[in-house]
Amino acid sequence: MRADRDVDVVVIGAGQAGLSTAWALARQGFEPGSGFVVLDADDAPGGAWQHRWPSLTLGTTHRVHDLPGLRFEQPDADTPAVTSVPAYFAEYERRFELPVHRPVRVRAVRRTAGDRVRVETDSGDWTARAIVNATGTWTRPFVPRYPGQELFRGRQLHTVDYRFRDEFAGQHVVVVGGGASATQLLAEIATVATTTWVTRRPPVWREGPFDENVGREVVAKVEEAVREGRRPGSVVGLTGLLVSTPYIRDGLDRGVLERLPMFDRITEDGVAWADGRSVRADAILWATGFRAAVAHLAPLHLRAPGGGIRMDGTSVAGEPRIHLVGYGPSASTIGANRAGQAAARRLRRLLRDPGELPRTA
Ligand SMILES: Cc1cc2nc3c(=O)[nH]c(=O)nc-3n(C[C@H](O)[C@H](O)[C@H](O)COP(=O)(O)OP(=O)(O)OC[C@H]3O[C@@H](n4cnc5c(N)ncnc54)[C@H](O)[C@@H]3O)c2cc1C
Repeated sequence: MRADRDVDVVVIGAGQAGLSTAWALARQGFEPGSGFVVLDADDAPGGAWQHRWPSLTLGTTHRVHDLPGLRFEQPDADTPAVTSVPAYFAEYERRFELPVHRPVRVRAVRRTAGDRVRVETDSGDWTARAIVNATGTWTRPFVPRYPGQELFRGRQLHTVDYRFRDEFAGQHVVVVGGGASATQLLAEIATVATTTWVTRRPPVWREGPFDENVGREVVAKVEEAVREGRRPGSVVGLTGLLVSTPYIRDGLDRGVLERLPMFDRITEDGVAWADGRSVRADAILWATGFRAAVAHLAPLHLRAPGGGIRMDGTSVAGEPRIHLVGYGPSASTIGANRAGQAAARRLRRLLRDPGELPRTA
């Protein structure tokens, strides 16, 4: 007989990626609870959405796609994502009776001598025949290093720390980063403060619509990167910034989105460039993105020489029992939906019909 904590599949994380995987595993015949469980580090449903800044509304997101099987009734564009998405996820977990255990933080995943992996958590261990890692990126904010960073007497914060523009009223804020978060927060802060925007590369403005063809092109590029084991880049880096997005349009009209190249060092009271220019600042906001939150997978030694994890569809190349959903090309709400379902299909074939090892998602 199986021990209580021995299951076919452990899903790690209950954001869009983990929930869509859990739904799909149930549809593939895995029994909720005895066949699979979901372990989630947060205290409440909602994945990263519950931690985002309150002024991020459904109208300013890039669209939160429905999870499979339940429509997301979006009240109106001004509804804060920080409350409405977690409420939807909570209803989803209830409706499909998904076996989510929380708060449970996974500390390490290891291969065992047999055919199991051991999932070590802050509240006991689980063993499984396979895992689906769906831990997103929010818990791994990335801040680059610049000389003098420790000298700065003002406030340094990352996107994950941002709450309200009024915290910056009357100040001068340097916003670093060329992505969606940087432009959105810049447009918002600039209504109450003066700002300087710096990016490593000149921004690429995209005039046309972001249609399916562009989406497919971007996903194909990120897929290529992870197939080769390179670190998956930011999707916005590949799509460019959409001029039609209301906050970008507004920022451009107000002259807020005038970009300077990256500064060379940080001083006690601001930032400075090698050519002698400097800007005084009360705060530096690092909107410099995220890395995949996969430190707990370190004992599996999955890193490729390119710094990323070499993938074959949703599984790690050569490791059909280790899946990553919401990683690289599936790091969007729609991508996570598709990858969750693909991973569940592959795991059914692998664990139920072991003779038939799938070659593709
Ligand atoms: C500011 C911002 C806005 C975005 N807006 C959009 C948008 O509008 N549309 C879109 O498609 N995409 C958007 N994205 C991308 C977005 O992050 C993904 O689309 C999606 O929400 C990520 O889902 P996920 O399930 O992969 O991760 P998350 O929502 O981050 O969920 C991960 C879960 O894993 C848990 N976890 C993490 N580590 C552990 C651990 N060690 N043990 C156990 N549990 C763990 C966390 O508690 C969390 O519940 C946005 C990203 C950012 C940063």
